[in-house]
Amino acid sequence: MITIDGSEGEGGGQMVRNSCALSLVTGEPFRISNIRAKRSKSGLMRQHVTAVEAACVISGSECAGLAVGASELEFRPGRVIPGEYQFAVGTAGSTGLVLQTVLMPLILADGPSRLVLEGGTHNMLAPPFDFIERTFLPVINHMGPSVSARIVRHGFYPRGGGRIEVDITPAPLLPVDCVDRGDPVGVNARTIFTGLPFEIAERMLTRAKRDLADWPDDAFAVRELPPEQGPGVILMLEARYANVSEVVSGFGQLGVPAERLAKTTAARMKGYVESEAFAGPYLADQLVLPFVLAGAGRFSTVKPTQHTLTAIDIARRFTGRRIELVQQSRGEHVLTVG
Ligand code: ATP
Repeated sequence: MITIDGSEGEGGGQMVRNSCALSLVTGEPFRISNIRAKRSKSGLMRQHVTAVEAACVISGSECAGLAVGASELEFRPGRVIPGEYQFAVGTAGSTGLVLQTVLMPLILADGPSRLVLEGGTHNMLAPPFDFIERTFLPVINHMGPSVSARIVRHGFYPRGGGRIEVDITPAPLLPVDCVDRGDPVGVNARTIFTGLPFEIAERMLTRAKRDLADWPDDAFAVRELPPEQGPGVILMLEARYANVSEVVSGFGQLGVPAERLAKTTAARMKGYVESEAFAGPYLADQLVLPFVLAGAGRFSTVKPTQHTLTAIDIARRFTGRRIELVQQSRGEHVLTVG
């Protein structure tokens, strides 16, 4: 039984999700205490409970103590059964974070799976659908499996109601070398909005255009969704390279002016473009599990976040694998497994 103190490292929900995924793949049971101790409202929230429930449903695992607000749980993994599954995060909790929990176990299962996930698709502090589709999954597919995702309906906080569908054809994860992002291929900036004045989306894009002055005019576009999918607004900036795409998102928030949101989002994109790293800060923490489960491989990344360091720590505890993170002369870091 692996014991984890959930107040260590980044001290948030990702420790629970990654532990479930690794437990299902390795067969190691775990107990976690002080769940999300570093968050202002500690304990499991609805979306974390749904993620753990999803892990149980695909495997017949047993989980003692699972409830909204719980600060401790014990997880005994069963055998992962591939198939068709549907999970609804009751609130606008993130569908992407549920996917994060079950994807690796299903990728390594002995048959194909199809997932229908309902809830939020473009939530703050979670991977938006476009990031999953364009940034994360291409790397996974490069490692061997075949995973495709479609968005049927967008879901924004707080209304939710989004729906994504994911098809998974499993395969062993192969070690890959992702140090070089390759030559630039193109850029685009999209504002997606619904149930809000057009002017908000337009102001966001105008400011992004000003800050990304070297991006071509035709790279910028606004898309309005049907009103029942809102209200919500998100700015997504994408830089495509031969070997990877980075999607940087700015989520509309009440009280945050459109210009300020666009300015910070553009600054984050510029930071990535100016670095030479393959993975941005979010992709890096999400690649730790697949790379560790591949048993070898490496990727370069911008300065590692606390999420990445914690994901490494948890992955080491479940697999015993050697994972090294070394800073390079230009500031980027290279994570090497094995
Ligand atoms: P908590 O409320 O405890 O922080 P949580 O379960 O909602 O937890 P985190 O533990 O913070 O979430 O994990 C968030 C995950 O979402 C991380 O894997 C992170 O890489 C990813 N993520 C967050 N924001 C983005 C973004 N803008 N683009 C891509 N991925 C993101």
